[in-house]
Amino acid sequence: MFNKKLITDIDVKSQKALVRVDFNVPIKDGKVEDDTRIVAALPTIRYLLDQGAAVILCSHLGRPKEGPDPKYSMRPTAEHLSKLLGRPVAFCEESVGPVAESAAKALKPGEVLVLENTRFYKGETKNDPEMSRQLASLADVYVNDAFGSAHRAHSSTEGVARLLPGVAGFLMEKEIKYLGAAIADPKRPFIAILGGAKIVDKIGVIRNLLQIADAILIGGGMANTFFAAQGYPMGDSLVDADALDTAREILQGAGNRLRLPVDVVIADSFDDSASRQVMDVGPVPEGWRIMDIGPETIAAYAKVVNGAGTVVWNGPMGVFEMPNFAVGTFGVAKAVAESDAVSIVGGGDSVSAINRSGLSDKITHISTGGGASLEMLEGLTLPGVAALQDK
Ligand code: AMP
Repeated sequence: MFNKKLITDIDVKSQKALVRVDFNVPIKDGKVEDDTRIVAALPTIRYLLDQGAAVILCSHLGRPKEGPDPKYSMRPTAEHLSKLLGRPVAFCEESVGPVAESAAKALKPGEVLVLENTRFYKGETKNDPEMSRQLASLADVYVNDAFGSAHRAHSSTEGVARLLPGVAGFLMEKEIKYLGAAIADPKRPFIAILGGAKIVDKIGVIRNLLQIADAILIGGGMANTFFAAQGYPMGDSLVDADALDTAREILQGAGNRLRLPVDVVIADSFDDSASRQVMDVGPVPEGWRIMDIGPETIAAYAKVVNGAGTVVWNGPMGVFEMPNFAVGTFGVAKAVAESDAVSIVGGGDSVSAINRSGLSDKITHISTGGGASLEMLEGLTLPGVAALQDK
């Protein structure tokens, strides 16, 4: 299934390993706020250290536009990693260039170095061959453990992998194993739950899953565009006017495998304290907007999920940031957690809903990569994985 070489397939003793990790974590006042992604990379880092490699970590953080910006420095992640590992972690203020080269050169087996944000360099997102070459010059082998960035063909994810022997880390393997199995050979019935604001981001996913899944349950703002395509006035609801034709076309081809909410919660303004009402799906009164799925829909979706063999969930069912409109999202989170199915949750909002429900240990696999997991569900090849060596 996973046909790429792993870190366990090569000898890393006394080698310098450049490891692309996904340390794109929230930082507040110079401290890591949520270390889920750092913790997820620990097995790979520990393994390499135990094997006697010198470990050079690189990652991007946020979207710095104008070069180096202290707000997006990787330094806090190095300090946090040091606490998690219980050993010193060096930090280098460059990702490439002379300072990075001498820091990498001086690094000994069993030592860890974190490089500065790769996106402080213009070459990174352009997959610039010179940036890739400079990164490659720091190490003997390349390990990609950054599943969350594997859908981007950047210097630190793709370009450099073609210049050094490139292998996958444990997190990368785990992510692709679960998501890959769900697509290639799911335990049936295979149910996908898709939500979120915009239908455009998920059209490719819907199209691909219609070929594979037994049912797709739609929620969130996305559903509004389907309702509008069915001819219902949507009041002030979020509707993707440009996607109406596509929505119509998908509805025609999908048959009963595409399920839409049967009832919704509407509000008279985009505010947690707005007046709210449950209504069956139909014309939304002027001045009102759809904010969540309704109780009958939650119950119906829970029933489908309860009988599933595999469930994949990405995207909130409503405006879950507002407690009054988070009922649908938390209801679905509970149903997914309580189901005996193989459950895979991806996307920042769904993962945060699962974590906030305290149900994360009931989920088979929580993906660290929203965009990357969607691209896998869309049936696309991830460039960061494609560039690694075949087994
Ligand atoms: P996405 O980034 O496409 O996954 O969408 C996530 C966002 O969708 C969250 O911020 C939700 O508040 C928002 N959302 C979900 N349902 C609705 C809705 N019915 N109307 C407006 N926004 C929504």
